[in-house]
Amino acid sequence: MKIFVLNSGSSSIKYKLFSKKETIKLIAQGVVENLGDGEHAKALKEIEEELISKSIVDDFNSLDAIAHRVVHGGSNLTKPTIINQDVIKQIKDTSSLAPLHNPANLNGIIAFSKIAPSVPQIAFFDTAFHQSMPQSSYRYALPLEYYRDFNIRRYGFHGISHQYLLKESIKLLNKPIEECNIITLHLGNGASITAIKNGKSVDTSMGFTPLEGLVMGTRVGDIDAGILLYLERERGFSSKEIDYLLNHKSGLKGICGTNNMRDIIENMKKGDKEAKLAFEIFCLKIKKYIGSYIALIGKVDAIIFSGGIGENSKEVRDEVCRDMEHLGISSNNTFVIKTNEELEMAREAILMLNSF
Ligand code: ADP
Repeated sequence: MKIFVLNSGSSSIKYKLFSKKETIKLIAQGVVENLGDGEHAKALKEIEEELISKSIVDDFNSLDAIAHRVVHGGSNLTKPTIINQDVIKQIKDTSSLAPLHNPANLNGIIAFSKIAPSVPQIAFFDTAFHQSMPQSSYRYALPLEYYRDFNIRRYGFHGISHQYLLKESIKLLNKPIEECNIITLHLGNGASITAIKNGKSVDTSMGFTPLEGLVMGTRVGDIDAGILLYLERERGFSSKEIDYLLNHKSGLKGICGTNNMRDIIENMKKGDKEAKLAFEIFCLKIKKYIGSYIALIGKVDAIIFSGGIGENSKEVRDEVCRDMEHLGISSNNTFVIKTNEELEMAREAILMLNSF
């Protein structure tokens, strides 16, 4: 069995190709960057030619499935879904909730429906894992009609990663999934934390968009909405300027000038005060979320760190977990797991194909 996993962005394509006999193996991977409008199909054709020339595939029509990462599934697309015209329409309809991501994800889907029309395509949604959140977690304190008419609610993201981390952590804990209470941290340039109770996401830090929650590389995370009103009313900011400020000029970069955690830690050790503050604000925010999630789920079996920062920075992990023993957190139940969203999608795709 061969499963091609695609992450189609607005200007790039990342892929991994897995084969499954007794075990599942990564047999090829790559990235194509600097793609212009309408160049996704051409890039995929080039990838196909390269894989054929290396005798890795006969052609793309010989694949068993193509798995696509789709950022936003809205309220309706709540689990991995075989793509047909109706699903394409639903992903399109959800684009207003993720205007940068969903159209880019669709580019890959549409390109493949021409290149390999006979191969099943499956969409995996970053929002799906969080569909188990109760209303009390996913509703904002806004009037009902804003939820009902505009779909304004918390969706949560990085779901494929949090789900992978859950599945890997149960191997370490040696417990059935439905008995696991864990907190998963995906700390990369984007960052989110999820409270998992009895094997299900019950709360997560990202919300209506991936802007809510933790301090991130260049995203602000939680902020008093009054600041936005002030900037608009008193300082003449346009919505475009506010968008840019919150998504690209804030977070770690906003505080200390760089979003690279490795540099921040190096600079902090050399005595740079802004770098130290960025590190402290980043870790303090995570600590506060962990505390609130423990209050929510009760006893935690494990805290899982992942993403570029979570996997590599002992400094961040130590600072986050410092003085948390009274909450049941110690080195015995703190783990680092390297996330692998593509493997998670490939495994799920194989399960789906086998269930037909
Ligand atoms: P993305 O969300 O873009 O996939 P990654 O998961 O690759 O990002 O994480 C990128 C972050 O990981 C950067 O802030 C980078 O500095 C940080 N990082 C990578 N290696 C280290 C390290 N050894 N120590 C501290 N931070 C690191």
